[in-house]
Amino acid sequence: MSYEAYKDSSLGFTTRQLHAGYNPGEHYRSKAVPIYHTAAFELGDFDRCTRLFDYSEEGHSYVRFSNPTNDVLEKRIASLEGGSAALSLSSGMAAISNTFLNLAAAGDEIAAVQTLYGGSTTLLNKILPEYGIRGRFIEDENDIESYKRAINEKTKAIYIESLGNPGMNIVDIEAIANLAHENGIPLVIDNTFATPYLIKAFDYGADILCYSATKYLAGHGTIIAGLVVEKGGFDWHNGKFPQFDSFYEEYKDSIGEEELRKNIFTKRLRIRYLTDFGSHLSPTNAFYLLQGMETLSLRMERHVENALKVAQFLESHPQILQVSYPGLESSPYYNLAKKYFPKGSGAILSIRLKGGLEAAKKVLERVRIFDYMVNVGDAKSLIVHSATSTHFGQSKEQREKAGVYDDTLRLSVGIEDSEDLIADLRQALDSL
Ligand code: PLP
Repeated sequence: MSYEAYKDSSLGFTTRQLHAGYNPGEHYRSKAVPIYHTAAFELGDFDRCTRLFDYSEEGHSYVRFSNPTNDVLEKRIASLEGGSAALSLSSGMAAISNTFLNLAAAGDEIAAVQTLYGGSTTLLNKILPEYGIRGRFIEDENDIESYKRAINEKTKAIYIESLGNPGMNIVDIEAIANLAHENGIPLVIDNTFATPYLIKAFDYGADILCYSATKYLAGHGTIIAGLVVEKGGFDWHNGKFPQFDSFYEEYKDSIGEEELRKNIFTKRLRIRYLTDFGSHLSPTNAFYLLQGMETLSLRMERHVENALKVAQFLESHPQILQVSYPGLESSPYYNLAKKYFPKGSGAILSIRLKGGLEAAKKVLERVRIFDYMVNVGDAKSLIVHSATSTHFGQSKEQREKAGVYDDTLRLSVGIEDSEDLIADLRQALDSL
């Protein structure tokens, strides 16, 4: 047979999640993507070594820079997103932190919403400032004027999450992308909770996507992994990003002007940060991630179906003060959810309990199917008390701005039988 499916971008999402980026003909016709378990590659001859190191020839020399297994993964996620290039890293936090460093230098700022994963908030308000990069938080993320106030000549990106953690809040992505572009800066989105199956974020103007692939992309909860995807087409030479101008000058003769214009963000991320900060994803974990991604669309369909049923049940329970899930008509984000997430608005929801912290503790003790874990996006259902875990270390005021109260529990609804999930929550809540 002739292998064609790996490069056919007209194929459907589910077909591409199984085939994109992998040509068995280049790997002894192995049907599974091989794990290249080596630290380095034999270089061949002197001239080839020189070409590999000045990046004028594609190939692999040392696994901290690249690996053929990771190469398939990067091509696959780029295909699923409709992006021009992607990079795999050792964790979601590596993906996010290296992205920020690729965008901003000392003296620069990143404008970000306040409803972020706790690690991203800490990066922006505690860690990056030690290196001279300021995270400037947007006061009211539902008001475009507030974004305008947070942007100045030092701003190098707007950073949001497509579905906020843990409140599942949705911002008007298109309007924010337009504002970013009017100011000559990219919109960077953490798309972890949504995945490329639920939203085509590049179609709404995103320029860079970051993933904790640990979550839904893998789906099996066995690895930590991160991905960064570049749309391509953003003008990095508009005077705001001198680091890309000098990188272009340095590599235009070896990598080539056309290639650099398509993928310069990813090229610099790999050559500067992946290579010399060293957070590469092991090829074994790249393989596990690919295994998970083969079923992404099927799992996401079931996740969102279950999440809506669980959210509707919870909303009707007398012990519940509030359910935050954008798929519910009662959600302030319902209309935005319909626009941006027509297939369903994810499978994470947060609840507030009328009985406060004590009730939250009891629910955690009494659930039998939901596992008490900080992770999300596993095929299995998970539950956690955000204030004492994912958002630990933040002030009460900061947490509450992100929708994390003492009585808040975050649920990650899995793909089990929905009747079992509802029965589990019912018995835990009825006993309060
Ligand atoms: N982004 C979001 C939305 C997350 O929920 C997490 C982790 O929970 C991260 C990023 C960090 O990812 P990782 O744990 O893979 O480093």
